[in-house]
Amino acid sequence: MIRNLGTLFIISAPSGTGKTTLLREIRLKVPKIRFSVSFTTRKPREGEEDGRDYFFISREEFLKGIREDRFAEWAYVHDNYYGTDGYMIDNWLSEGFDVLLDIDVQGARTIKCRYPFAVTIFILPPSWEELERRLRLRGTDPEDGIKKRLINAKREIAEALWYDYLIVNEEISQAVSEITTIIMSFRYRTKNRLNFIRPLIEPEILGA
Ligand code: 5GP
Repeated sequence: MIRNLGTLFIISAPSGTGKTTLLREIRLKVPKIRFSVSFTTRKPREGEEDGRDYFFISREEFLKGIREDRFAEWAYVHDNYYGTDGYMIDNWLSEGFDVLLDIDVQGARTIKCRYPFAVTIFILPPSWEELERRLRLRGTDPEDGIKKRLINAKREIAEALWYDYLIVNEEISQAVSEITTIIMSFRYRTKNRLNFIRPLIEPEILGA
């Protein structure tokens, strides 16, 4: 029995780019995709739910997780720890599910080393002015927090060059449709369709 492995998609974007909204839409729109819920020591924002947006844990629990090698990657971003559960990703991929990771550029680099076939997608804001406007509009960060996020955004955007795909989030529905197209196109790759071809050709041709 040939088992197709799922594809791992990494999505990164400076905060304020609208990534959370995009990901929410993509999770609704793309069938059978799994979203890796990260662990963080950051406090929940209004409307965020434990287990849906993040697993909100204490600093002590996070440091214990690092010692126990629980994370496929972890990073210190905006004064908080964030980490990805490696066991969950491996299980989903081996079950044939596509997996979506919402992680920063440091995490993306680590995951790309560990999973070289991961597909990387970077979301850009249409302009600096628009990014700053969206961060203020969000109203979730104090002024020094916004400044810190803008400085980080400069550093992060410089890394966008090594990503496989760049999406400009000017208009949400357009960006959702572009990301969906990328994800769906991987599902049609021959290596991901072996289950369909198998009953139609001689087993020895497939080497099965
Ligand atoms: P926020 O606090 O705005 O939800 O996220 C801040 C940054 O942390 C975002 O760039 C987000 O992509 C990143 N992030 C979220 N989860 C993870 C994770 O598990 N690992 C890494 N490396 N970054 C993460």
